[in-house]
Amino acid sequence: MSVEGLKCKECGTKYEESAAYFCENCFGPLEVSYDHSGLDAAEVKRRIQAGSHGIWRYSDFLPISGNPGDPLEPGLTPLVRADRLAELLGTEAEVYVKNDAANPTHSFKDRVVAVAVAKAKELGFDTIACASTGNLANAVAARAAAEGLESYVLVPADLEEQKLLASDVYGTNLVGVRGNYDAVNRLCTELVDTQPWAFVNVNLRPYYAEGSKTLAFETVEQLGWELPDRVVAPIGSGSLFTKLGRGFQEWIDLGLVEGDQPTFHGAQADGCSPVATAFAEGHDVCKPQRPDTIAKSLAIGDPADGPYAIEHARQTGGNISSVSDEEIREGIKLLAEGTGIFTETAGGVTIAVLRRLAERGEFKAGEKVVAYITGEGLKTLDATRDTFSMHEIDPNLESFDSEFAAQEVSA
Ligand SMILES: *Cc1c(COP(=O)(O)O)cnc(C)c1O
Ligand SMILES: [Zn+2]
Repeated sequence: MSVEGLKCKECGTKYEESAAYFCENCFGPLEVSYDHSGLDAAEVKRRIQAGSHGIWRYSDFLPISGNPGDPLEPGLTPLVRADRLAELLGTEAEVYVKNDAANPTHSFKDRVVAVAVAKAKELGFDTIACASTGNLANAVAARAAAEGLESYVLVPADLEEQKLLASDVYGTNLVGVRGNYDAVNRLCTELVDTQPWAFVNVNLRPYYAEGSKTLAFETVEQLGWELPDRVVAPIGSGSLFTKLGRGFQEWIDLGLVEGDQPTFHGAQADGCSPVATAFAEGHDVCKPQRPDTIAKSLAIGDPADGPYAIEHARQTGGNISSVSDEEIREGIKLLAEGTGIFTETAGGVTIAVLRRLAERGEFKAGEKVVAYITGEGLKTLDATRDTFSMHEIDPNLESFDSEFAAQEVSA
């Protein structure tokens, strides 16, 4: 753990641990600060390897020691070497896919919720809540059910039906707000002052964000204690993207892994690309947009961590791109046909950007490139409807043979 407290990302003012999320001096965002100087790398590595089979194995780097019997422990999702996908992309780089759809509620949000809720309980909250684009609501509702907490999940009312159903099933208070995510988020920042609740991504945001570092830790472990050369990851609020970088950096600084911070490539949809646009125009801050894209889980028009995502992409020699809804659908298909992994629209965004980078020749032979697949395809089935095809036949041989004519029976 070795947590010092909270610290302003802008002016560095330090605060005691509490449900605070912005600086009283400059209104900058707060984050958790650690003192790892007392840690011995070899000992930490042993502790990790002897730890639980999920994110709590990284407790040395989290603001909470976690619950050893956690019934919904996320993490240690597969990192698969995707040679067929690399071939389809025409790249000689080593392409890996980190399949975070393999978490308890099928998205990477289980990681951030596990950390935020553990902290919320420690701080004495008995009701948890969130402003969500869908996956976060699923993760909060499920964890509240598992831990016997009250929950309120606020989402745009026009979300994918699968994501609404996959929240309500857990017996949460599902609140569909007539407005987009930015309107939902604004409402939640007002509710923080009127309700005694832990909003995981508002007043508990500094702790929530820490959960994403575990994706970096797992990547290093699963590559045999090596850093990737490049990562391709989606950007909604920009939290995941920035904290991936922070995770790699903490392990480099402690000497758990050798080498440099990977080159970071960010992925957004054209229909909601405030971070990619600011990056392309050379700006440090994002101009808010009104989202219109099938990638609803990334549809955040005013991203809280956008400036930090831009800074990290620049510092690592990377970039941030955006892709059309058509490319997103093709990305979903390409990943499915190249790896057997079915991702939601956010993963389609990531693979479409991966494809663009490969086509532009940005990857060198032998480089390790990791693409982060953050959610499950069954939650956004409508996105694949356009490409759907089926051979419909009668239940007899003639009908089959007329559909699949002239197939030789092999000896
Ligand atoms: C929330 C979400 C993201 C984006 O995460 P941020 O930390 O807000 O940038 C990416 N992919 C999926 C599937 C998500 O649900
Ligand atoms: Zn400050």
